[in-house]
Formats: sequence, C-alpha cells, structure tokens
Amino acid sequence: PSFDQLGLDPRLVQAVAKQNFEKPTLVQRKAIPLALDGQDVLCKAKTGSGKTAAYVLPALSTILKKKATDSTPSTAALILVPTRELADQVFKAVQEFSAFCTKDIQASKLTENVSDAVLRSLLANVPDIVVATPARAWHSVDTSALSLEKLQYLILDEADLLLSYGYDEDMENLSRSLPKGVQTIMMSATLSTELDTLKGILCRNPTLLDL
Ligand code: AMP
Repeated sequence: PSFDQLGLDPRLVQAVAKQNFEKPTLVQRKAIPLALDGQDVLCKAKTGSGKTAAYVLPALSTILKKKATDSTPSTAALILVPTRELADQVFKAVQEFSAFCTKDIQASKLTENVSDAVLRSLLANVPDIVVATPARAWHSVDTSALSLEKLQYLILDEADLLLSYGYDEDMENLSRSLPKGVQTIMMSATLSTELDTLKGILCRNPTLLDL
C-alpha cells in the first residue's frame, strides 16, 4: 500500500509526500493500521527502519481526529525516549509531519534540566503532544506542570534502553498517573524478557510485531 491507503489524515499524507517518502517501510505498513485501530503494539524495530514515522503519524492522526469534535486543549500523546538526542530527532519529525496542520498540533519537548517555573511556562499552552525523557516527564507531572488526565496515546521508543538507563522508577510513577484505556505503543530494538515488566504495567494484550 501507499501512504494514502493507511488511513492517515490527508494533511499527514501531504507532509509525508513533502519529505519525499515514496512508500511506507515495513514497520510503517504493519504498525500504522494497528495503531490507528486503537490497538496496543509491541514492535521490534531498529533505528533506520522508519520506526519514528510508524508511531508519530498515528499519534498525530488520533489528535487531529479528536480536534475535529473537541477543541478543549489537552495533552493527548506522550512520547518517552531514553536520550536528549533521540528527543531532538523525534521532536523534529513531529514538526515536519505537522507541517500542514500547524494550527491544530502544538508540540513540546522536555529534556533540559530547567527550573520548575520555566517548565511550567513550556507547558502553559497545554501541548497536544509531548516528547520527553521519563525523568522530565515524571517531574512535570509530579509538579503539576503537565496533566496526563486526558492522555490517549503513550509511546515508549527504544524501550529496552529506557530500562537499561535506569528509568524504571520514573516509568512506574508515570504509569500510575495514566488514565484508564491509554493506548500504548512500544518500540524496541530487542524483545528481551526485561520488557515484560513494562509490557505488563503499560499494555493491554499488545499485538507483537517481530519484524
Ligand atoms: P527512523 O528509523 O525512524 O530513525 O528513520 C530513519 C530515516 O528514514 C529517517 O531519516 C527518516 O526520515 C527516513 N524514513 C522514514 N520513513 C521513510 C520512508 N517511508 N521513505 C523514505 N525514508 C524514510
């Protein structure tokens, strides 16, 4: 299939075309329809596979769909990544894919160790989508700068690294702040048994994509 056959909002298909992506990669073909269908997905995917678009595009599509009927600002998607470098890349992808719906998508990136006042100001506009390390995300929730009450879509990118970098406690705290029924997408280079704990607390019967 081509990008316009995956069920994505047409403005996103337009942004994909602008980036000269000719056709979806394997992980995009497999994960995008499942994610748009509301399923939890645990996907084995490495850097270079096109995994970022595989979870960012459905997240943006979900937000645009929500916005069509409900204009109350709320943070609907949270993307957790292990490093600041990856956060920069993912945030850039979010901005590029939002090129034709900039009015409807507000995104924030939380990685720097800024003061609580600055953090609050970064989140004052109630971004639709937040890209963060687990430590900064949890601190933002803990200080009430960020509310996850209306969260619909949670992504863990490089989930195996999130664990090995010692984010276990932040992940547990965050998981306790999630509303019921959040859709979870986990991307991981390896599918080790260590992921089972995260999977257990965050996923509902996820579809496994071992590509
Ligand atoms: P990722 O695996 O998400 O880090 O993506 C690796 C690189 O592939 C990025 O530079 C993307 O811009 C590019 N990319 C992702 N999907 C496609 C696609 N369908 N066609 C061409 N390039 C792509």
